[in-house]
Amino acid sequence: MIIDAHTHMPSPGWPGHNDFFPTVGSAVEYLKNKEIGAALFNTWQGVFAETADDVNRANTEALQLYDTYQGFLYPGAVIHPSFPEISKQWLDRFRDHGFMWVGELIQYKCNIEFNEPSWLSLFEYCAKHGHAVQLHGSKSLNDVAARFPDMQVVCSHINLDLLNELANNRNVWLDVSGSVGGLYLGAIEAALKSFGEKRMLFGTDFTGYEPDVFIARINLAIKDMNAREAVFSRNITGLLAKIGSRPIG
Ligand SMILES: [Zn+2]
Repeated sequence: MIIDAHTHMPSPGWPGHNDFFPTVGSAVEYLKNKEIGAALFNTWQGVFAETADDVNRANTEALQLYDTYQGFLYPGAVIHPSFPEISKQWLDRFRDHGFMWVGELIQYKCNIEFNEPSWLSLFEYCAKHGHAVQLHGSKSLNDVAARFPDMQVVCSHINLDLLNELANNRNVWLDVSGSVGGLYLGAIEAALKSFGEKRMLFGTDFTGYEPDVFIARINLAIKDMNAREAVFSRNITGLLAKIGSRPIG
């Protein structure tokens, strides 16, 4: 089974919705017709959240979608540095449901880098309660990982310039998703050299990208079946177990 550790589901009720897939159902159906067996997600409204309402709706929907697509969709909490109290409440609520995964979070929309105080106080809360955070790959992610060495931090995308620096922090994992990711020849190969197959996660940034392309690149770059299986599913199930999050399926 392949688990996609980095997806975003359509948000049909959101004014920003212009997804290729009109509904979550059609996106899930598409993934199911691939070899994908489960997907970690937040919604597009969540990843691009700008208001408290975005945060509330995205998290409410994510928990509902878990129930609707049980065993297939696995929710990540959305938090935002401009709304710390609401964010902490949602972390509590997700934790109450057994979900310890947070993200993917991005810093480029709000123009607040991950190593700035407003994000750091949220990460401190995550670290204190044992959440793992999935962050859009950036230099400031490294400061977060170094500051909270017991918190598991997932770097999204493969930024070749940052690979070695990130890999030095043993609590950083790497998902191979997106345009700066497994699509480029040599990127997965470079990631393997820095991180090794035991800290790499399969991810696509679906609905933005075609999963088959990432599956093909992993199959071509990783010949060893055991290593391939680690990247496709074993590492993410192990990571969820490590943080005490509800298992997939
Ligand atoms: Zn993403």
